[in-house]
Amino acid sequence: MKALLTLLLPTMLWAQAQPPNIVVVFCDDLGYGDLGCYGHPTIRTPHLDRMAREGTRLTEFYVGASVCTPSRAALLTARLPIRSGMCSDKRRVLFPRSKGGLPASEITLAESLKAAGYATGCFGKWHLGHRKPFLPTRHGFDTYYGIPYSNDMDRVRGSPKGRASFNDPKSEYWNVPLMKDEEIVERPADQTTITRRYADAALAFMSESTQAKKPFFVYLANSMPHVPLFASDAHRGKSPRGLYGDVIEEIDANVGRVLDFIRSNESTAKNTLVFFTSDNGPWLPYGLHGGSAGLLRAGKGTTFEGGLRVPGIAWWPGKIPAGRVTAGMATTMDLHVTALELAGATIPDDRTLDGQDIQGFLRGGSSPRTTVLYYRGATLYAVRVGPWKAHFITHGAYGSGPKRTVHDVPKLFHLEHDPSEQHEVGKKHPDVIAKLRKIAATHRASVEAPPSQLELR
Ligand code: MG
Repeated sequence: MKALLTLLLPTMLWAQAQPPNIVVVFCDDLGYGDLGCYGHPTIRTPHLDRMAREGTRLTEFYVGASVCTPSRAALLTARLPIRSGMCSDKRRVLFPRSKGGLPASEITLAESLKAAGYATGCFGKWHLGHRKPFLPTRHGFDTYYGIPYSNDMDRVRGSPKGRASFNDPKSEYWNVPLMKDEEIVERPADQTTITRRYADAALAFMSESTQAKKPFFVYLANSMPHVPLFASDAHRGKSPRGLYGDVIEEIDANVGRVLDFIRSNESTAKNTLVFFTSDNGPWLPYGLHGGSAGLLRAGKGTTFEGGLRVPGIAWWPGKIPAGRVTAGMATTMDLHVTALELAGATIPDDRTLDGQDIQGFLRGGSSPRTTVLYYRGATLYAVRVGPWKAHFITHGAYGSGPKRTVHDVPKLFHLEHDPSEQHEVGKKHPDVIAKLRKIAATHRASVEAPPSQLELR
């Protein structure tokens, strides 16, 4: 009996503790090299730099796809988008005319946390279906405030065409709705103040939840720095990096407001996990209006590192080591599973999850993840195992760059020696190629893909 109690006691104590608040800050198209703490020479991000000093900065953090819709589906389902129908080789994301969205059968992070007693709020860009059955409020969020798809969609007839519209953008050029829960409250959304307003809504929600003594889950999905770029008067014209820098500095200032709120409340200061990241790499064809992947190759839309490897900053004073900078692979799908574990939420066991619990990694240990799978649309393009990455197919960014090329002998890179994927070493390592081919084949054979939601029109 005594032995049994000794065995059970730590679990019981853990279960009784108040589960942590969870805040995921997403950005849209922010690159690996766009923050001061990730080496950008001129964009000033003092709040994120402080967050990194007080927390842990990951240098090998990945998203589930290199464009918006599938990447968001991966975070919210802990599954590769191929398993939920949220990807396609014909349509890269959902568009205003799309009829599909995240199926009701998927279990989102918000649904799981809500079932575990959390208040759940989504603030910002959704892009997992804008028709009613697919809205955040139908997928586990108590409340929603944001735009349902990308800020460059719904272009108004007669407005400047093509890239010219991005040079001096006006909110009126895009008839993008701003929604509160399930109603449109503003159209077109005034994008110049949108970053601040998302943070305002998140702050009000955190404050209410704290007063109600409810743990909260905040999904703060900034719609910037996706083109067209907008900054408020307080930030416009301030950054040496130009408008793109203004936009990042405004995101930084608003992350600072969120962290200040958490620090200033006794009940949140020691019991909140905040994770900052981006949905995919920089949209490089947009030149100065796109960001930077730093030393990583290429960007959004590609399966090179610049497409899927993004900043990842984990902050939880007292639980996550301060000032740690660490390699070790992890993904947004791991973040999802980890949040469920921390919350004491039910982990779905009737489906394949692609995430792993990385609590030990975030607390100072090593990552359990050994493999990263790189999809473009519904096709597996590359596989990473340890430091080795094999590209079976390569393709430039959407709308520019090299054409799709299938490599009979995969292009092999050693990402620790060569993070920029510049020096092919396949000839010297046929054994490694054989191993990665086998892992890719086993994975492909195991996947049962439902019909694509992105192709429904
Ligand atoms: Mg994006």
